[in-house]
Amino acid sequence: MAHDDQGTGLFPATRLRQVAVTAGKAGLDALLLTPGPDLRYVTGYDAHQLERLTCLVVPARTGPAGSDPFLVVPRLEAPAAQASPAGKLDLEIVGWDETDDPYALVACRLGQVAALRELRACKSPAEVAALLAAGEAIDRVHAQVPGWLRPGRTEREVAADISDAILAAGHVTVDFAIVASGPNGASPHHTATERVLQAGDAVVVDIGGTMPSGYCSDCTRTYAIGAPPAEFAAYYQVLKDAQEAACAAVRPGVRAEAVDAAAREPIAAAGYGEYFVHRTGHGIGLETHEDPYIVSGNSEILQPGNAFSIEPGIYPGPHGARIEDIVVCTEAGAQRLNNVTRELVVVAG
Ligand code: ZN
Ligand code: ZN
Repeated sequence: MAHDDQGTGLFPATRLRQVAVTAGKAGLDALLLTPGPDLRYVTGYDAHQLERLTCLVVPARTGPAGSDPFLVVPRLEAPAAQASPAGKLDLEIVGWDETDDPYALVACRLGQVAALRELRACKSPAEVAALLAAGEAIDRVHAQVPGWLRPGRTEREVAADISDAILAAGHVTVDFAIVASGPNGASPHHTATERVLQAGDAVVVDIGGTMPSGYCSDCTRTYAIGAPPAEFAAYYQVLKDAQEAACAAVRPGVRAEAVDAAAREPIAAAGYGEYFVHRTGHGIGLETHEDPYIVSGNSEILQPGNAFSIEPGIYPGPHGARIEDIVVCTEAGAQRLNNVTRELVVVAG
């Protein structure tokens, strides 16, 4: 129930400003309040304790000017917040929808996400060690994949074997197990279906999980069941060279987009440019996809400690191929964290 206490003087409009000044004096960037007596004291809003985030954000005021405070509430609670004394304050009420990430909303409006992204993009030696352990674990899974690729089995059956192995290799979660055979290999976003593997198939296997450390693995290899089509064998070699060229382009001071270009050049030169339809790579750490993105238009300068995938692909149909390793930018160039063979592995058809 909403109480309009404005007339009582219990919740004066000046209080938000006092809080902002106090936060500044305390050396804080902002004060964040969730439901409870503090939130009620500052705004008059007697919010329910919900599992959904309600949060008052008061940016610190260290001079005459400061950012405006705002109150983040679940969309359904917005009318109640508006009807409370908080609705009469100089306070923006920001409703969030079920599909929003309210924490990201708060962080974004505080302008801290960009700073954290930058920090997270440069891995410490301990983080690199954690990513290497993840890389070694997923390499062990790839080493077993040829044994599961047999004509007559479905993509889903193979993906199930891979998922078990991802856990057995030391991950705590399976994040994805993409098995894309034959024509499905020409679709970079394919997952795994009931398609039955056949002799002559090329199979793109892109797999990853999260380790107990919280750091993620992500590695792609493409396999052939029996002798692959001649055209496939030819562009697989182009792809392998392109992946190598992109890794060789990695060093501190180079722009992220230059690594993307290094992957693209040999593929375009061989006539397959139009079939390399995605970015070359993405950063990886506590998330599988984070900064820096290795993509045309990203002029960010690579720094030692940046960890990212290099995963060019060629998808002309009726088959496709991708090779993906995680690498770390070091003073000496790229250090690969995936070292399972990149040669085309041909299993019996
Ligand atoms: Zn991948
Ligand atoms: Zn990836």
